[in-house]
Amino acid sequence: MTEPTGIAGLQNLGNTCYLNSVLQALIHTEALKEYFKQNNVPETLKLYLLSKVVNGVWSSNNTAVPISFVTHFFTGVKDKRIIYSQNDVTEALAWIFEIVTKESPKKKYHPKYDGATLDYLKDKKKKRKGFKENYFNSYIIYKYTKFIIDDLEKNESPLSIFRGSQVSILTCMKCNKIKYTFSAFDILPLDITDLTLNGCLENSNQSEVLDGENRWFCKNCNQKVPVKKEMTLYGTGEYVIIQLKRFTAEGEKITALVAFDESIILNGVAFELYSICNHHGGVKSGHYTNYSLVAGKWYSFDDESVQQVKNIVTANAYVLFYKKK
Ligand SMILES: [Zn+2]
Repeated sequence: MTEPTGIAGLQNLGNTCYLNSVLQALIHTEALKEYFKQNNVPETLKLYLLSKVVNGVWSSNNTAVPISFVTHFFTGVKDKRIIYSQNDVTEALAWIFEIVTKESPKKKYHPKYDGATLDYLKDKKKKRKGFKENYFNSYIIYKYTKFIIDDLEKNESPLSIFRGSQVSILTCMKCNKIKYTFSAFDILPLDITDLTLNGCLENSNQSEVLDGENRWFCKNCNQKVPVKKEMTLYGTGEYVIIQLKRFTAEGEKITALVAFDESIILNGVAFELYSICNHHGGVKSGHYTNYSLVAGKWYSFDDESVQQVKNIVTANAYVLFYKKK
């Protein structure tokens, strides 16, 4: 039986294991693979550099050397010395998101959001009157739709598939007036508050009361009031990246095993795991690897070395990549 492609290692170019870990996750993101396959000559040099890495791994299982990507992709955003030193994978992902978003022509990629296209959302916004029966729903859906259209139009790129949104709900504890504020994310950071991913997700939806010095000014009451604050996941794209916050503000690493399932439900939508960025070791002497699913089997990508792996749920799991089922 012939081996599938997509199981090539990436050469370490000097402290670049963090980039290799991130690149393997992007390489194994089906929508990106398809996008770059169909667009052999992307619009800009930087998109081309990324497409070369993705296409390279899918064309041959020989170790790929991402030298042109590492040398030229970050120019103008990050100093070369920083690229060749150990970095956090979520930081590296954020740089890649920033560059790809900046380089991508707009009104081209037609990203889907909660299963809907931008055109559909615009139409929904126009037909606001249709939601009249339930004022609460109509208001929040309208506000959300407006937010997401603006956000996607500004930030559209081949990576928009990862874009999700959260809503913060502040409720005045005197008059019950509610304030909704939406925010978008590419990576969903999750505090480790439980030994299971589902537990951490549930806990992240808990509300807190802001009182004392943290009171908010309520326009309705015209004074500072205690408020109930809830922050919750609101919308998801076709893909979602979850970061288990293993590194504390005090500079320590949480080494607990957080058990996660290959299938999860987020906001009522089923997602399945396809890639993991692992962090091994301590804060100062860490190493990054990646586990990715190829043709139904999990492989460990440790720079140049690639091998099949059975147990993917380990205490090294740091960033999890899920796609809609
Ligand atoms: Zn009030």
